[in-house]
Amino acid sequence: MACMRRPDLPPPPPFSDDWALFLDVDGTLLDFADAPHRVHVDPDMLEALDVLHRRLDGALALVSGRSLEQLDHLFAPLRLPAAGLHGLEHRGDGPAAKPPTPLRTLRGEARTVALRHPGAVVEDKGATIALHWRGNPDAEPAMRALAEAAIAWLPGYSLQPGDHVLELRPKGANKGAAVARMLDEAPFAGRTPVFVGDDHTDEHGFEAVLAHGGIAVLVGDRQPSCARHGLASPAEVRSWLVEAAQP
Ligand SMILES: [Mg+2]
Repeated sequence: MACMRRPDLPPPPPFSDDWALFLDVDGTLLDFADAPHRVHVDPDMLEALDVLHRRLDGALALVSGRSLEQLDHLFAPLRLPAAGLHGLEHRGDGPAAKPPTPLRTLRGEARTVALRHPGAVVEDKGATIALHWRGNPDAEPAMRALAEAAIAWLPGYSLQPGDHVLELRPKGANKGAAVARMLDEAPFAGRTPVFVGDDHTDEHGFEAVLAHGGIAVLVGDRQPSCARHGLASPAEVRSWLVEAAQP
């Protein structure tokens, strides 16, 4: 698929009740914070998600790198359809497999690096681990070196770069596969899929919805991207949702 540099993407078309709406979370619905647990969840956005979830007959899902447990905590009292850990977790499936030993070793080593670089964060999600340096960019070389060394001992895992983060996660699971799976099932099947996301990992989601005749919406100005529509920031995404939820 041709993924181009498109500096000025048009806004998404008017909201339609026949959409299946897939939403990334961090950098899309929520502004980044210096650590993943410090994000703010806007109550007006929660209310809008609740309204739109009902209006779409349930076809509104979160598709995130966070675990389902974290998503349910952040979006409480809502319990939206969701794929967590970049598609490794689906609501209704059993828990993801136990992390392999080299991943647990990496977790310990990365925590030592984080102690030496206050502001860096090791996010242990069970079957995946994310090393964040947004809160202390000086930690990047050490975090990167650890992850690159560990990957050699983790067959079946891949290194996923993100925005000030490097994540180790099982190959095969990605947001596109998660979207494709949901589009095979009620209440998503037969609807026009729309994916809204900001990061490299969301390109898989964009490709999946475009392959189903859907709409890909990039948040921010990362390039290149397969998206053909854009919103400038998470604040703009929230306003878009709140406006769409008006009666
Ligand atoms: Mg994101």
